[in-house]
Amino acid sequence: MSELEQLERARRVDAYRLRFAGELETEFRRSHRARYRLPRLILFAIGAMGFGLAPLFLELLWLPTATIRPLLLPIVMGLVLPAVLVALVATALRGGSRMLVETAQSIGILGFWGGVLLLRYFALRGEMNFPPEMLGVAIVAVSVFGGFDSRRVIPTALAFCGLGIFLELHYASSFAQTGSTVLSLCYMGLIAAAGSYTHELLGRIAWATARYAYASARSDPLTGLATRAEFNRLLPRVLAQAAREQRMVAVALLDVDHFKRINDTQGHLFGDQVLRRIGGVLQQLAGRPLDLRARYGGEEFVLVWYDITPLEFEHQMSNLLYMIRETTLENPRLRQEIPLSASIGGIWLVPPAGQEAEPLLQDADQRLYEAKAAGRDCARLQAAEQFHPHEHVVQGDFGRRQS
Ligand code: GH3
Ligand code: MG
Ligand code: MG
Repeated sequence: MSELEQLERARRVDAYRLRFAGELETEFRRSHRARYRLPRLILFAIGAMGFGLAPLFLELLWLPTATIRPLLLPIVMGLVLPAVLVALVATALRGGSRMLVETAQSIGILGFWGGVLLLRYFALRGEMNFPPEMLGVAIVAVSVFGGFDSRRVIPTALAFCGLGIFLELHYASSFAQTGSTVLSLCYMGLIAAAGSYTHELLGRIAWATARYAYASARSDPLTGLATRAEFNRLLPRVLAQAAREQRMVAVALLDVDHFKRINDTQGHLFGDQVLRRIGGVLQQLAGRPLDLRARYGGEEFVLVWYDITPLEFEHQMSNLLYMIRETTLENPRLRQEIPLSASIGGIWLVPPAGQEAEPLLQDADQRLYEAKAAGRDCARLQAAEQFHPHEHVVQGDFGRRQS
């Protein structure tokens, strides 16, 4: 599967399952974690602040009985608050181990929800004031705004909601007394689950769509080669590297011969097939990390070799012309073999520092023009013009098809 097909599948199918294939999943999680750092920090900070103010709430709002009062502060300040603080600190620290950060965050969430549930439990036993909505609010807030892995958050959120509902029903004197609370907890559980799923789904679709857009700007859909935009982005880097390392670079522009005629006589779809086949031929060349191959325009292609000698370049070009000549395509409708050929203009140089790409391409284009003028199906190769301003060295005119 090509990169574009993988990304298409990721945004149309895998996003809904909340799992991308292979490397994509790892990359998505990395960027997702980075994006949700701030919301997670805010969530844990609010949680820590809530439990940290327990002594104040105790006097003003919770009003515990004398039996529960000595238990309350040690539980909240000694267990719940540290759990949330651990998550807060782990989220704040950059570059910690992913496993440790995720474990600390899980402890924080469990501490947060567990703490709220415990307070509600005491309230239901008549030991203090604590409204049931707090459980729903805590569960919804973490599930929806935290951007945590939905596959883990949803079951945990539903389990806490279920526990909350169980406690409400268990301690109520009649269903009439607790019915509306149970119903609202059910709704909160559903909102937490749906919100968590939707949030992650949208995040995945947006991420994969952006990746898809970026990849399709870089890669030509017909031939799978780099686009001109991507080539323009990469060529200066290759030139800079070659200037630093004093390596020879060769640039070749290739244009299919009489392509208009092929289109006119065989149809555009056949023309597309020709371009795809030539793209396939080019895929076999210039394949080292700093080499480039791109679809430059309609039926024009560009190849760049990094660290090559003029002799090797000539050899590559002669081979390329041969491979294209051998790529005869049959038009099944007309049962006719269509011969193919191309013309090439090529230059080489060891670029000086600050070498611009544009003059080199113009130079190669000029050589291409000469190859066309010389009768097509051949290559004109020479050292870059800037190094031989007055001397025109024609290096190659390789064995043309004998007709
Ligand atoms: P020459 O030998 O001088 O290069 O002649 P040519 O006919 O190849 O040159 P020209 O540049 O005039 O023709 C290019 C044609 O390529 C014109 C355009 O319709 C066609 N073309 C450009 N992009 C595509 C494409 O994606 N698919 C198809 N089928 N044709 C394309
Ligand atoms: Mg052309
Ligand atoms: Mg052409």
